[in-house]
Amino acid sequence: MIIDTHSHMYESEYENAEKVIQKCKDNDIKIILNGIDKKSNLEVLELSKKYDNVYAAIGYDHSVVDEITEEDIGLLEEQIKDNKVTAIGEIGLDYYWIKDNKEKQKTLFRKMLNLAEKYNLPIIVHSRDAVQDVYDIVKEYNVIGSIHCYSGSKEMAREFIKIGFYIGIDGPITYKNNKKQREMIKEIDINHILVETDSPYLAPEGKRGEKNTPLNIIYIIDEIAQELNMSEEKIIEITTNNAKELFNI
Ligand SMILES: [Zn+2]
Repeated sequence: MIIDTHSHMYESEYENAEKVIQKCKDNDIKIILNGIDKKSNLEVLELSKKYDNVYAAIGYDHSVVDEITEEDIGLLEEQIKDNKVTAIGEIGLDYYWIKDNKEKQKTLFRKMLNLAEKYNLPIIVHSRDAVQDVYDIVKEYNVIGSIHCYSGSKEMAREFIKIGFYIGIDGPITYKNNKKQREMIKEIDINHILVETDSPYLAPEGKRGEKNTPLNIIYIIDEIAQELNMSEEKIIEITTNNAKELFNI
């Protein structure tokens, strides 16, 4: 069994998403689908009820800071009580695209962390050009989770691991110019590495330009196996156990 710990394989992002989910089921791939707003959270919940290989991560990310009301936070609080919800995600901070609303982003992020703490759920974090703020904020809470699509330094990865976090690795590790990340994974504890696709985004090398799917998770596993000089089977065993432990699957 392989667990893709971060995907957006639902209809508003991918045509025929359910066909792909079924194919994943046939290939013993479980998927943690991540919502980012009210609409996608509903899609994720629905698919998690329909398919036993789908788990739900729901939350409000940085892109919806201007639209989320207190009522919406209340709605999310009701939704996370569903037993297929394994995490609060995708949540986080992104200073790459939007720089002028940092305080608003932090406020929403803290609201998500409050829920995670209250319901004892792990978080799935998006962090772009914001790693220090993400670290400082999550450290204030009694939460653990995954830093999805991690692209920072090995030093920072180790700091996250020290406070119980996991490092999500996806397509970019296969990119020719990404030697830095390939070096990074050799320097951190493999018991804190997760594999993910972020599909339909970030297709791995050889598939770039195509819409990504969780079926491509094997390319990421293969790359990690090569870098660490281990078998694919061993990487699958370790990363699946890591995901099971973090997400209580
Ligand atoms: Zn994502």
